[in-house]
Amino acid sequence: MESAGTEPESCPPAQGPPGSPALPAEEPERSEAAPEPQQAAEGVPSPAPVAQGRRPSGPGSKGQAKRGGAGKGGRGKRGSTRRAGEEGGRPARRAHVTVDSSKAKTSLEALKISLRQLRWREFPFGRRLPCDIYWHGVSFHDNDIFSGQVNKFPGMTEMVRKITLSRAVRTMQDLFPEEYNFYPHSWILPEEFPLFVAEVRMMKESDPPWKPTFIVKPDGGCQGDGIYLIKDPSDIRLAGNLQSRPAVVQEYISKPLLIDKLKFDIRLYVLLKSLEPLEIYIAKDGLSRFCTEPYQEPTLKNLHQVFMHLTNYSLNIHSGNFIHSDNVNTGSKRTFSSVLYRLSSKGVDIKKLWSDIISLVIKTVIALTPELKVYYQSDIPAGKPGPTCFQILGFDILLMKNLKPVLLEVNANPSMRIEHEQELSPGVFENVPSPVDEEIKVAVIRDTLRLMDPYKKKKKDNHLPDTCMDSKQRFPPISSRLPRSNLQFSKFAIVRSQLSENASDTKDELLEPGSTDQLEHDISKNPEASLPSLCLKQVFPKYAKQFSYLRLVDRMAALFIRFLGVKGTMKLGPTGFRTFIRNCKLSNSNFSMASVDILYIDITRRWNSMGLDQRESGMCLQAFIEAFFCLAQRRYKSLPLHEQVASLIDFCEYHLAILDEKRLVCSRGITERRAALVTCQPDGLHLTAATHAPLLNRMTAANKLTDYRNHRS
Ligand code: ADP
Repeated sequence: MESAGTEPESCPPAQGPPGSPALPAEEPERSEAAPEPQQAAEGVPSPAPVAQGRRPSGPGSKGQAKRGGAGKGGRGKRGSTRRAGEEGGRPARRAHVTVDSSKAKTSLEALKISLRQLRWREFPFGRRLPCDIYWHGVSFHDNDIFSGQVNKFPGMTEMVRKITLSRAVRTMQDLFPEEYNFYPHSWILPEEFPLFVAEVRMMKESDPPWKPTFIVKPDGGCQGDGIYLIKDPSDIRLAGNLQSRPAVVQEYISKPLLIDKLKFDIRLYVLLKSLEPLEIYIAKDGLSRFCTEPYQEPTLKNLHQVFMHLTNYSLNIHSGNFIHSDNVNTGSKRTFSSVLYRLSSKGVDIKKLWSDIISLVIKTVIALTPELKVYYQSDIPAGKPGPTCFQILGFDILLMKNLKPVLLEVNANPSMRIEHEQELSPGVFENVPSPVDEEIKVAVIRDTLRLMDPYKKKKKDNHLPDTCMDSKQRFPPISSRLPRSNLQFSKFAIVRSQLSENASDTKDELLEPGSTDQLEHDISKNPEASLPSLCLKQVFPKYAKQFSYLRLVDRMAALFIRFLGVKGTMKLGPTGFRTFIRNCKLSNSNFSMASVDILYIDITRRWNSMGLDQRESGMCLQAFIEAFFCLAQRRYKSLPLHEQVASLIDFCEYHLAILDEKRLVCSRGITERRAALVTCQPDGLHLTAATHAPLLNRMTAANKLTDYRNHRS
């Protein structure tokens, strides 16, 4: 790869090692509309591993204009009649998107390059006026923000901790065991230690040749910290501080796919663009991180050899065998596309592999979103000003020898560093650029920004009323809706960006026409003209049809949130639970309200004793789900669990829809009476808002009833 300082390139297919067969060139856009037959069946697209654009030589450097395809974001007349302000002498361009990078931490370098490529305006020390986008290095809470967009969701860090992720996936495994078998069998320590011991004993008894290995991972750990392998439950280091440092113990995948006899894993970047409606994008290329000792299946002798068993870059970099390479196809860290080329040269069906990976990603996000919505409504309650959120997640995936992808973990803050430390002489270190990291990470950040561009959103939103087909997106069924949808947030963002646009207007001067050549003029009017096509590919809602049936927990979370009552809470009180039971007509002669209270107390006490979150008392979402499963089992005994649960959700939604309808009729009656009163008033007051609100409610109640009927038919 060329060194930093070259101009941005278009998106050529990644180069395989000499002699490897060429992969299909980048997937043309038309394939978005027409997936291949096999993929259509599986709900996944074909891979398009591509080498991403390089860093331009400096703030003022221009890219090649050969990729006109990406240039959809022209700004119209306004930008083209202004002269660059701060960057003096630059040709005219559209109004800048403003980005606060003051909290970007280790992603700063990659972010800066991305902003230069986009010609957006960076505020490295923050800004007194609000910005369009806030780039946080760690969490949603890094800054107090009340508008614009921020690259973190509240609660994401908590959701992807090893225990929380394992719980969320386990709930899905209970409902859909086949669909969620991409996550290794896991137990949560310390509370499931007895279960772990019992289950392993039973499995060994039923299958004596089975010689398993397990991996113990401290909750909240990262970079391989504190991880160790064991052959038997009795080897768990109970003597230490399991109570104070909970962990997950997991079946160890002992037959991974090897390349050059080395174990490796894949880091894929996934953009959660919106929670409601759910929008997921996957980067077409990622990283492959290699171990530095040849792999052997685990034995008592090699269990402790981290360079053989753990693929963490942060560990292997300390091995004398670690190979830094400027070539994306070689070394201990490579692009995933280069691995795909290698596999394809060996006859592996890489389309099927990509298909499986995309499906793993969508299913994992579906498992995470219900609780994420609980966090979201708690941090940004309806009616409170707040930003819109998006987030880049790092998915760590292992390929088994039979090419089945296995989810290892999800990172809320994947490293976006584009340099690495090199030991020049013993004890003397220097940060040097890492071309592989730069190639992948800059493209992911830049293209995330392109997708979140508030001016594009504005343009899109302005068109919303024209497309009645969009009404479903804008008004999803009440059961799956948050109190405050992203649409509302983005409207807020639009107001924000209009404000900041005006602010930048005052700084920008007018351009004298004809001062640059046409190419420069085009690029500056629309910097995207110089950029490669997007490296992020939408997979949801594109494949929503194939995966929607999995979103049962999402619907349960909507019920949970509805009865939370007080804004900002994350736990359901006993009154809220009783109201849920009553409104959904779940109590009867066989299930009295006293039994309801006992169920609530039993389950809530057990979940709270696990010491998860003691800040608030009450029933957390996971406890509510357990109670819901109990109720579903009582009512629909003969069905499989997921059908029991689906039937109970339908039942609840139906009764709530009737209730909403009744309330609507009541409130309409009241409104009409009030209106009659108002018209009698001599000052002629108007009740415009009050008369519209019930109409909206009636529409949502009617939608719910229609949904229910469609569901039943
Ligand atoms: P951390 O957050 O500390 O990096 P991970 O869950 O990613 O923890 O595990 C660290 C490494 O251990 C992974 O990169 C992978 O190489 C290995 N590993 C983790 N879980 C398994 C497993 N179930 N089977 C085989 N290897 C695993």
